[in-house]
Amino acid sequence: MPDSLSISVFNSGYLPVNGGPGWDPTRQATWPASTATLIAGDRDAILVDALMTTREGEQLAAWVTGAGKDPSLIVITHGHGDHFFGAGPILAAFPDARVVAMTAQVVDEARAQTRPAVLDNWTGWFGDQFDRDPAIPTALNTGELQIEGHPVNLIAVGGADGAFATIVHVPDRDTICSGDAVYNNIHMWLWNSTPHSRATWLHSIDAIAALEPATIITGHRDPDAPDDDAQRLLDQSRSYIEDFDRAVAGSGSAPEVIDTMMAKYSHYGNPYTLFVGAYSQFNS
Ligand SMILES: [Zn+2]
Repeated sequence: MPDSLSISVFNSGYLPVNGGPGWDPTRQATWPASTATLIAGDRDAILVDALMTTREGEQLAAWVTGAGKDPSLIVITHGHGDHFFGAGPILAAFPDARVVAMTAQVVDEARAQTRPAVLDNWTGWFGDQFDRDPAIPTALNTGELQIEGHPVNLIAVGGADGAFATIVHVPDRDTICSGDAVYNNIHMWLWNSTPHSRATWLHSIDAIAALEPATIITGHRDPDAPDDDAQRLLDQSRSYIEDFDRAVAGSGSAPEVIDTMMAKYSHYGNPYTLFVGAYSQFNS
């Protein structure tokens, strides 16, 4: 069998958003740089995640077209809008492609993103830049996919950034697309997290580590990150969650949490994510 399996990554870069109340208006708030990954054989391909805005979806569709591949599936790792609201232009370019997720739970959480109150949240950040009637994934109810003979395994790992996390494992390349279960040099989304949800997220990271990947392509990745080395990313994601947990327990206010975290993570992308996460811990 010719071994032409390739893995290519599209990175959206940071996207300006409205910071909202409490954010320093002299600084531009941004949404974390996000990835979509094309796992491809000679012709067939699986696209992992589909970004957020319509413009991102159009850029992604052009990128996939330029790669000369014909994706049959668009796999959504978890049901947060910033990983599937952008699918429309890709479906327009590849009408035979199906938007899918591994489990019914991911589908249900994705559908919940289109409830009016949740759409209003997204509108607060992105205005009219996204599709308010996005394609909702359908459940595959299997994790066993393949591309031209190469296994591509979807694996349910559990709780992470507020949604149920599934990952995509490509054993022939020792590579995992982690969705938002692991991050690469970007502040992690801990909005409304609790000690329990943070412990659950750490367990999910352990489940990914147990697969012993060499490479992890994270759903949010700083474009200038030095590499996609799995061990580095597993270590940094664990440490960040543990540090945030300790900072919240040991602080009396959100600014204190932010100061404590920035002392160690000032080089990470998207400080707005830390701002949102820290303030969520003190607004009850
Ligand atoms: Zn995300």
